[in-house]
Amino acid sequence: MNLDIGGTGIALDGCGRMNCFVSHAHSDHVAALRAVGKSILASEETLALAGYSNNISPLKLDGVKIQLLNSGHILGSKQLRAELDGESFVYTGDFKLQDSLTTKGADIEKCDVLLIESTYGSPEMVFPERDFVYSCMAKWAKNNLERGAIVILGGYSIGKAQELVKLANEYLDVAPIVESNIEKACAVYEQFGVKLDRIPVRTDEAEEIMKHEFLSIVTPASASRSFCSKLEGIYNRKVVCAVASGWALRYAYSADRSFPLSDHADFNQLFEYVERSSPKKIYCTHGETVRLASELRRKGYDAKTISKASQMTLDEFSEGD
Ligand SMILES: [Zn+2]
Repeated sequence: MNLDIGGTGIALDGCGRMNCFVSHAHSDHVAALRAVGKSILASEETLALAGYSNNISPLKLDGVKIQLLNSGHILGSKQLRAELDGESFVYTGDFKLQDSLTTKGADIEKCDVLLIESTYGSPEMVFPERDFVYSCMAKWAKNNLERGAIVILGGYSIGKAQELVKLANEYLDVAPIVESNIEKACAVYEQFGVKLDRIPVRTDEAEEIMKHEFLSIVTPASASRSFCSKLEGIYNRKVVCAVASGWALRYAYSADRSFPLSDHADFNQLFEYVERSSPKKIYCTHGETVRLASELRRKGYDAKTISKASQMTLDEFSEGD
């Protein structure tokens, strides 16, 4: 998606323009960092997590007031706020409003035009309180560790996995074993001040700990019953696994448990964001856009869906493919 503002185009989490905003380091948002010769607007943390801290030319726009607001999704995730001649635009990127163990919830500023992510845009997608989910996960993990089992928790390697490490530290007083791609992101979190006590796999310390029951943080694909069965054969010990994802509310996983712990806003948070930012015009993108736009219109908002290929023009509040 592209925003045209003051005669300049900016690609929003894409690479279709020379100027590109990268909201955060998840792989489906960083195409502009892989492209050659782009001017990039992104946080330092995003560049570090994505491994592109060098050779980036910073984006500057004459006459347009640009702000990056915290989006509360993962370390360094930002929203883009642009203002020209008193008209303001916000692109949320992926966001959540709740504070987590590693990330503060999103900032909300008033705007005229809002481009909002819609991952959980259906009314049934409402998460329990985050602290409650933490407690449930910790209790389940503790019970299994006390029974001598190996406990595997699965979450995305950037963001969720670090939150799970912190959960293990604070709720269980355990330093978990982490996979190497998770360790890479943990090191960046620490570089930016988030302390994470963990043990990288394939180190002597990890080998020693893995002779007994232990807790490990892995990517979601590895948190499956089939992987657990393999480990049971290797370690001759019971192995249990759980997945942490907002989709746990809707889908069954091939795991012993799944917990609705998400880095995205649920349906109520999406509505809260809209109410507090009080936009004149709303565009819904990424996810359950049709449902969210229709729910917003039912409440009297001027809301519609917008495709990823669209061009938005701030001064006209119009868009076209
Ligand atoms: Zn994301």
